[in-house]
Amino acid sequence: MAGLVVGGVTITHPERPVFGEGGPSKGEVAAYYDAVGHWMLPELRQRPLSLVRCPQGATGPCFFQKHHADTLGEHVRSVTLEEKDGGAAEYIYVDDVRGVLELVQMNTLEFHPWGSRVDDPDKPDRMIFDLDPAKGVEWKAVVAGARMIRERLAAAGLESFVRTSGGKGLHVVVPIRRGPSWEKVKAFCECVADALVAEKPALYIAEASKAKREGLIFIDWLRNTRGATSVTGWSLRARPGAPVAMPLRWEEIARLKTGGAFDMKKAMKRAKTLEADPWEGIATLKQSLP
Ligand code: ATP
Ligand code: MN
Ligand code: MN
Repeated sequence: MAGLVVGGVTITHPERPVFGEGGPSKGEVAAYYDAVGHWMLPELRQRPLSLVRCPQGATGPCFFQKHHADTLGEHVRSVTLEEKDGGAAEYIYVDDVRGVLELVQMNTLEFHPWGSRVDDPDKPDRMIFDLDPAKGVEWKAVVAGARMIRERLAAAGLESFVRTSGGKGLHVVVPIRRGPSWEKVKAFCECVADALVAEKPALYIAEASKAKREGLIFIDWLRNTRGATSVTGWSLRARPGAPVAMPLRWEEIARLKTGGAFDMKKAMKRAKTLEADPWEGIATLKQSLP
């Protein structure tokens, strides 16, 4: 089987459909990541990275991989990190589009970085509020929830950024100056989530309980812990229709209809026509927890 060279990486079986018959092929997935790589990398590089790999495509079984293997590719870097149980293990990270494409060759569809960087994994530089609406919750309510979090954070002196998850919800992401421990950051996020629930208990819940979530939006603050990940901007999701997690300017969320509003095709078009990063400024903001 002849391979297709994309961004210097040989992609085998480029014609193989990844999202079911008639959907994007492996070669098209590689071309997608090649085209959006420069938008995606600022958020992805230098962070321990978990992968969702789908050897038989998104319609087959997929698995979550957090540990490095030499077979992943030459530009797929590794970093030794402590494990919860006290041992150490090799984790994955990438610094360039070539590394991303080598992972695509290994059937990676989704990219999930940590909220801290490889040189100091115990000091987060990103917080995330992951809004998970229960079935039947109106999309407008999800948008309103994200805006409320933004306002609360702004009142605490913190600027935040929004993206679609490519699934049901939105993520609100907050860059912070490295310093506070994961425990401190997590406690702060819990406070923000609790404050929203106290204000609108008929709309929001801050407990992970599925049973109590009916009709509500779960403000998932639990992602703010060492080793936890969230999907990165521009990553595809291994779900029907090839949806993408898309970073947006705050004004843009008014026009959305769902968290899966961007698919691969739309994201590709956006990557080509965007003049500035919708998250412009995120890397240089120096904000501290109050
Ligand atoms: P949705 O909008 O559909 O909720 P999501 O990406 O926010 O999409 P969640 O289930 O809310 O999905 O998970 C939030 C993040 O937590 C994910 O983006 C992923 O990085 C991480 N995560 C989710 N499930 C797992 C898992 N089984 N193992 C490890 N990390 C996970
Ligand atoms: Mn979510
Ligand atoms: Mn969640």
